[in-house]
Amino acid sequence: MRTLRWRLLLTYVGVLAMVLLILGLVLNTAISRALYAEDQARLTGEATAAVALGQRGYERLINGRSGDCAGAISYQQAFDQAIASPLTAGHPAISAVYLVDQNGSVLAPEAGPVAVGSAAPDLSATRLAQVNARIAAARRFTGFGPIPQATISYNTTGGSGQRIAVTLIAVRYRSVSQCADALNASYGIVEVITTYDATRVALARIQLLLLMVLGGALVAGIAIGGPLIAGALRPLARMSQVAGRIAQGDLTQRVRLPHGGDEIGQLADTFDEMVSRIEQAFAAQHASEERMRQFIADASHELRTPLTSIRGYTDVLLRGAKDDPETAEQVLITVRREAERMSRLVNDLLTLARLDAGRPLELRRVDLAALAGEAVDQARLLAGEREVTMRSEADHLAVYADPDRLKQVLLILLDNALKYGRQDAGGWVRVRLGRSQCGVFVSVSDNGRGISAEDLPHVFDRFYRAQRAAQRRMTNAHTAARATGSQPAAGAVAGPARAPTPEGSGLGLPIALAILRAHGSTLSAESQLGAGSTFTMELPLPPAGSAPPPSPMPGPSSAPSARA
Ligand code: ADP
Repeated sequence: MRTLRWRLLLTYVGVLAMVLLILGLVLNTAISRALYAEDQARLTGEATAAVALGQRGYERLINGRSGDCAGAISYQQAFDQAIASPLTAGHPAISAVYLVDQNGSVLAPEAGPVAVGSAAPDLSATRLAQVNARIAAARRFTGFGPIPQATISYNTTGGSGQRIAVTLIAVRYRSVSQCADALNASYGIVEVITTYDATRVALARIQLLLLMVLGGALVAGIAIGGPLIAGALRPLARMSQVAGRIAQGDLTQRVRLPHGGDEIGQLADTFDEMVSRIEQAFAAQHASEERMRQFIADASHELRTPLTSIRGYTDVLLRGAKDDPETAEQVLITVRREAERMSRLVNDLLTLARLDAGRPLELRRVDLAALAGEAVDQARLLAGEREVTMRSEADHLAVYADPDRLKQVLLILLDNALKYGRQDAGGWVRVRLGRSQCGVFVSVSDNGRGISAEDLPHVFDRFYRAQRAAQRRMTNAHTAARATGSQPAAGAVAGPARAPTPEGSGLGLPIALAILRAHGSTLSAESQLGAGSTFTMELPLPPAGSAPPPSPMPGPSSAPSARA
């Protein structure tokens, strides 16, 4: 009973019953009014006609033979004989007929249930007054018999509490004492009391029929409405089931309701969309947690290596190496190198953490060519006999950036190009600047070892090092080969990256990418194994209306053409 379906059904049945009840009452009232009115009109007509007919006999009886009044009888007797008896005998609905005077006292019949002289039953004083008024208005009327314009009919409640109709027919009559006096006559009122027995019986039948029809309509309404309500609520039940399964953790569940755009269908669509978003958010959160877990594991691993070697070297010192000044110096130099490596790593981690936290950049208009020139100059110091060149393909390449951070990116790319480039005199690093479709680009190319297609998509991942990944692949291939007794795949054993692995932590490119993203810029990599790599960053142009570009810095970096 607490379910929505039951509540809806109850409401529906209640409303339907109410409507049918009101309809039944209106119909019953209308039908009974019509029936009673028709019956009353018919009886009034019949009574008036019967009184008019009886009046002629009454005249004859009461007046005897004209002239000597011989045979005249009292008007009470005459009324009973000529009017009252024929009326009650001819019309079963007529229960009583009285002749009353203008005050409402019974004049006839003498032997009736109400004594002559007492007040007539069911006579309304108001109606009597109305009839009297009409009689007064019709005084000039000279003939005997009913005065049609003074006839009144009304409904009232009889002694038994039942509805009865009373018809008052004004008549002009002559008593025995007036029989000889043709002009002198009295005015009286014939009161015809009618019961609605036949109408009541007919009405009861109609009411029963009405009750049956309306009851049938109610049952039919329930029979049709019940399944309709159940059908309309079925999608909600389905949604509830799906929501239950989702609550248990199965985020792949969907309602997928076929519908024609109704409200429940729209709700189901919105529900599905919401669950999809929740699923995506969960997946994103899971991936982020996984990345964080991996990051922490990698960071710990990277920090553990220098720490282990520092501990090892201090053990060597403690075990007596300190007594040999040469060995002690060697050990201390190594310890310092490891400490520096660790400090570099910690600095990189700190930079990444700050970038992740969205620390605000100190943005201003920067001359990109000047900035790149400074970075190239710094790189040349480390390049040895290798060639580091820069070529600017446009003048005044201004960007809106944090110059320190942007220079950090350039140094990372140049450092990588030198680290992973050819180490002999044939090695070169080329920096190109120019305008791109959406802004300004800077590319750093080298002719070094390159990056395999397998590693290329991962070089921007934190702690990813192509060399280490290659070693891992090689180890896995050897293990698999040992397990199967076969030869490992050629590519897995002898890659072109046979040169000594340069020092690094796998955080340079992720830092560069994070800095550029904070600038709304992009960084992409192209590489061919054994042929070299090109890293290209694209920066948006400064917003219109910002300060004019600073004058190019003096020195070789301002030159737009190729430089050595
Ligand atoms: P790191 O240089 O400290 O190892 P990076 O994030 O700068 O870390 O680079 C990630 C990896 O991408 C490097 O380990 C290297 O394998 C590869 N890589 C980056 N730049 C180059 C390049 N210019 N040539 C070849 N490999 C590169």
